[in-house]
Amino acid sequence: MTRFIFITGGVVSSLGKGLASAALAALLQSRGFKVRLRKLDPYINVDPGTMSPYQHGEVFVTDDGAEADLDLGHYERFSGVSARKTDNVTTGRIYSDVIAKERRGDYLGATIQVIPHITDAIKAFVVSDLTDEDFVLCEIGGTVGDIEGLPFLEAIRQLSNELGRDRTMYLHLTLLPYIPTAGELKTKPTQHSVKEMLSVGIQPDVLLCRADREIPEAERRKIAQFCNVRQEAVIQALDVDSIYRVPISYSEQGLDDEVCRHFHLGAPKPDLSRWQEITERATKPEGEVTVAVVGKYTGLLDAYKSLAEALAHGGIANNVKVKLNWIDSEIFEGENTMHELEGVHGILVPGGFGERGVEGKIAAAKFAREHNVPYLGICLGMQMAVVESARNLAGIKGAGSTEFGKCDEPIVGLITEWERDGIIEKRSENSDMGGTMRLGAYEAQLSPNSHIRKIYGTDTISERHRHRYEVNRNYGDALAKAGMVISAKSPDGLLPEIVEIPGHPWFIGVQFHPELKSRPFDPHPLFTSFINAAVDQSRLV
Ligand code: GLN
Repeated sequence: MTRFIFITGGVVSSLGKGLASAALAALLQSRGFKVRLRKLDPYINVDPGTMSPYQHGEVFVTDDGAEADLDLGHYERFSGVSARKTDNVTTGRIYSDVIAKERRGDYLGATIQVIPHITDAIKAFVVSDLTDEDFVLCEIGGTVGDIEGLPFLEAIRQLSNELGRDRTMYLHLTLLPYIPTAGELKTKPTQHSVKEMLSVGIQPDVLLCRADREIPEAERRKIAQFCNVRQEAVIQALDVDSIYRVPISYSEQGLDDEVCRHFHLGAPKPDLSRWQEITERATKPEGEVTVAVVGKYTGLLDAYKSLAEALAHGGIANNVKVKLNWIDSEIFEGENTMHELEGVHGILVPGGFGERGVEGKIAAAKFAREHNVPYLGICLGMQMAVVESARNLAGIKGAGSTEFGKCDEPIVGLITEWERDGIIEKRSENSDMGGTMRLGAYEAQLSPNSHIRKIYGTDTISERHRHRYEVNRNYGDALAKAGMVISAKSPDGLLPEIVEIPGHPWFIGVQFHPELKSRPFDPHPLFTSFINAAVDQSRLV
């Protein structure tokens, strides 16, 4: 029997609902339960694929090719369960499906309304595509009180009626702000937030209260009384030094006990030894390396969430702390700025879209190549490294990418046709921006004697993609003669997937996003190897 835990947030946004959901999932797993995590996003975009990373952080990509909210990354990293298309939905998607059905005549002339048509579609989504999961943790994006969130709250309210209170639970995450002049943690915002939930007919079962210091017993009692929850169900969620400590800290506060009590489950105590071990390793590194991340969205770190996590995993695997220098690539388009890269132990150019800052990325790749600094180029970071080698090693002066307009030597060009599971997918220059990229997991074949083959230790890999443009294989020979080789291709041999420079200590560009598959308990081999190379580099400089 699948049980549903709905996670809502109140008081302010950015309280870490995604992490809280992921941590609770990890706790339930450590008691032997099978979990699935889902996110309902109230915004009107059909998917986050066209949203600026500045507004909503990174776009996460699933194996089955969904462009999803970055919280799915937390879910995967904490639970180890690969997310699917059916794990994230937005208001825009729900409405566009309902409207498409209406146009087809599926509603037989009925008047289409938020209740029941939109709420029915939301409920159908929540319970769809499940098999033998013990728990579905379903996070509602946004903050209680947002207009867009109402249909979702109504849908989860109805679900509890339909499935029964013993199969559903409401967990509400709030904030207790500390007011220095009063010398107190304040409970009023939490009371108001719960009132807001009650006004839509939802009585939270558990309150998870973020605070920057211990919540005194008296305050917990007050919250319990005013918000109509058991005192044991008012759980404090204090700030911790490492995200891996979050499950441990919640468990110490009794969160998983409370969940089991709610569902009348006599489950064994959780085994948190792996979380203890990884927290220990993450908080007590034996050294430090510095990696420069040369990108475009360096002003908002959520824009590179999975990347930062994957680099941290690489650090844990090598017992070092990875210090990240976030550098806006545009600075390298000015005079006398390359010294910013001096002394770093690795340079990473991440994925990105659009022309702004690309010459700076090319300059960073050149610096790494010429100064023997470990370089990892991801997607656009690979494409720009290839352009750099084409221009400066192979002497192809007009080398560029057609993403930035017509160019004489299209080293990187638009892909208009590719194969997936035996089906040819097509697009033209005029296709929509949304959902028209090469998206999701694709296989690649690694060349036998390549560096990348050694790193992965296998001939065939599957990695997640999200891009429109591809390195043009017709330039492969010219590049190889000049020193950069294509060391992996798509199984049909048409699309270059990985490039490397054999004469360089560690220079690799990948067309896919390895950061999306790295997990704390299973660090991605590319990041483990890259940080290992950075450690070697730190012994030289
Ligand atoms: N803009 C490039 C493309 O579409 C790279 C995309 C990316 O880095 N994810 O091919």
